[in-house]
Amino acid sequence: MTSWKTIPADRYDVAVVGGGAAGMTAAIAAARAGARVALLERGERPGRKLLMTGNGKCNLGNRDLKPSDYYSDDMAMAASVLERFGTEETIAFFASLGLMVRERRGYLYPQSEQAAVVLDVLRYGLEQEGVKLLTQAMVREVSCFPGLAYSGAASQRNASPQRTTPSHARSEDQDIACRPRSGQETTDHGSGQGYILRLDNGSQLWAGRVVLACGGQAAPKTGSDGSGYALARLLGHQVIAPVPSLVQLHCGEKYCKALAGVRAEGTVRIYADESQRRNQMPGGSSYCQSSNGGQKGCAAPIRPIWNVGDNCIMEESGEIQLTERGISGIPVFQLSGGVNQLLAQGKKLRAELDFFPQYEAAAYEQLCCGRMDHADSKTVETFFTGMLHKKIMGVCIRQAGLSLEQDVAGADRQKLRQVFALCRRLPFTVTGSHPFDSAQVCRGGVSMREVDSQLQSRRSPGLYLAGELLHVDGRCGGYNLQWAWASGYIAGNAAGAAEKRAALNTG
Ligand SMILES: Cc1cc2nc3c(=O)[nH]c(=O)nc-3n(C[C@H](O)[C@H](O)[C@H](O)COP(=O)(O)OP(=O)(O)OC[C@H]3O[C@@H](n4cnc5c(N)ncnc54)[C@H](O)[C@@H]3O)c2cc1C
Repeated sequence: MTSWKTIPADRYDVAVVGGGAAGMTAAIAAARAGARVALLERGERPGRKLLMTGNGKCNLGNRDLKPSDYYSDDMAMAASVLERFGTEETIAFFASLGLMVRERRGYLYPQSEQAAVVLDVLRYGLEQEGVKLLTQAMVREVSCFPGLAYSGAASQRNASPQRTTPSHARSEDQDIACRPRSGQETTDHGSGQGYILRLDNGSQLWAGRVVLACGGQAAPKTGSDGSGYALARLLGHQVIAPVPSLVQLHCGEKYCKALAGVRAEGTVRIYADESQRRNQMPGGSSYCQSSNGGQKGCAAPIRPIWNVGDNCIMEESGEIQLTERGISGIPVFQLSGGVNQLLAQGKKLRAELDFFPQYEAAAYEQLCCGRMDHADSKTVETFFTGMLHKKIMGVCIRQAGLSLEQDVAGADRQKLRQVFALCRRLPFTVTGSHPFDSAQVCRGGVSMREVDSQLQSRRSPGLYLAGELLHVDGRCGGYNLQWAWASGYIAGNAAGAAEKRAALNTG
């Protein structure tokens, strides 16, 4: 690896900023397209986040790949990238680097189950394709020089040029030239325009085209601290405010502490605007009201409250983890980006946990009624024993206003019914989430409406964007790395091929 300080200022066809999954892929693709490529990484080594993925095993893709696994402000554009570079292309790309891939229930991992091996093959790939890897190269500024003629004398290139106005501050006429109408491909800038990259150590580097692949803001210790957003803004891009995603949620209930450490299968449902459904909360239960005055059994349920779909805005099922601060686990992770977005808009949200999602309302009613028919000579605790984890049952019992030790025969029957209801709608007030440090990805970033199908900027021709820096995020399960490979490959290949074409035209 060459430290930036040790090489002379130079010019490259393509400079890729960010040595993460997307940047390394982009650099290899650009080099394979025939370009002379530099990859600039601010850290001492590339791929630090990659080493953490899949608990060190790197879940690098998924056979079950569909647009609904992603979220973006331009889903059609995101989907078109994934159509052109999907799971098969990912496997083929890694095969070309010598990596063997195995599949477990659709989830793709390296055969070695080591993220370090994925990083190794990418690093060897960079070397093999002749990519100049510059580490400790923190890019502070990328400027577009519309008047710079790369095809001219080298002395002109190496001389310090008069900087023209940055693209985001150009006159309206210039700006319009850089902004094709939505839907059009970005007009190629040919050889008359290029970029200068300024590093925080004072060095600078020239490139005909630039791929920005600086990641988002998740896990900032790995290098992606949001500085890529600043670079994109400098070049005229709009950044949709990022929020943490694939992260655990914080909740306000005191009983979180009592539940900490429990894992249980279930469904998490998110509701907005509590006022709309106040009458349907477990406390106001109409569950199992019986024609015999609720004295025993439940012969004629009127309106079972576990018709849980009403007003629910999102739901996910799987293993839920309960923590001191709230709720976690894969289903919560999947919901967290959407939840954080709504919280950032000032929405009031609550989550409800359903520990019996496999039961239709009628079947659950039957189950509860069956148990109610045998509510004799036991404590409340023993009456409910066998249904759920002790800690969950204890919270449901106390929340219904009963104590574990009291005699079930003397207990208020409405409250007993409420316990059954809480097993399906245990409420949590969502107050926020763990911060970016603990998030796996960001929701937000550079708007997908501002790139064309080759991921070339509509704001600044010759600039390409890839990876998590863009406003595309995926579910847990290999989808985010799939996006990094796909967008990195398409952007890098397009940048390399275009620069090669421009060179041929001028040569
Ligand atoms: C703990 C954890 C586990 C995960 N597990 C999985 C998983 O199993 N499967 C999956 O699909 N996804 C997983 N993800 C998400 C996935 O890792 C990311 O979506 C993906 O790595 C993003 O790739 P990227 O190249 O866009 O950004 P990054 O990997 O963040 O890379 C960006 C790079 O740019 C560099 N950089 C930033 N700014 C500058 C600058 N100004 N100048 C120079 N360099 C700069 C950074 O140092 C960094 O190396 C996980 C994430 C985390 C945090």
